[in-house]
Amino acid sequence: MREEERFFEYPEDSAVIAGAPVYLEAQLEEVREHDDTESALEKARERRVNWYRESIPGKNLYQILKKSSYGTLISGGKGPSLATAVLTEDNVFEGTVVVSEDTDPKKYARQQNLPEEFVYRESEFSHADSDPAPSIVDFGIELPAPLLIGRFANGSRYPFIPWGDGLTCSCPYKHDQPWRVMCKHELLASNICGFESSSIFIPKTRGIDIPHRARRFVSPEIAATHRSTTN
Ligand SMILES: [Zn+2]
Repeated sequence: MREEERFFEYPEDSAVIAGAPVYLEAQLEEVREHDDTESALEKARERRVNWYRESIPGKNLYQILKKSSYGTLISGGKGPSLATAVLTEDNVFEGTVVVSEDTDPKKYARQQNLPEEFVYRESEFSHADSDPAPSIVDFGIELPAPLLIGRFANGSRYPFIPWGDGLTCSCPYKHDQPWRVMCKHELLASNICGFESSSIFIPKTRGIDIPHRARRFVSPEIAATHRSTTN
């Protein structure tokens, strides 16, 4: 919150606001259009504090750590003793190509000399008929696109979408509320990246080769400056 203070001090200054997180930038733009700018700004600040103090820890992170959430992805074993090998046995990360709805995946696979089973249409994923989940194209990704797909132990299938300089899960939970910073699938991915390999890339367990960009889960900038606080 302290890092964001400067955005609230100069809500009129476009150059300052340009450095704000995208959501906050949009909120501050709305504030400027209000008649009573001051009280609108105060409300925006309160919402932000509430996100950091209540919504993110309580309504987001606490929720996904439950047995009924993250627990559905880890069938056996407990906690940090779960090694990457075990986690990726039940949850498969697959290198794929996703094609547009008007492309025949089988035909495309033949033309490109790719195994058919790794070419998908977006409508084959679990988020296809859900409102909150954005489509791949909404992220500025042109199809066909090489993407990493998570096939999870509980039966759902979601693509990880390159966004900013990392990946975001495309599941509806993640996108239903703006303050949700993580979903259970991303928690799983970060555990897999963190446990053994300490890598910023999600390991591909099967499928076709995809660019590093489609597997880079953690921002290189964060990776370069992060200092672990645990042993
Ligand atoms: Zn997800």
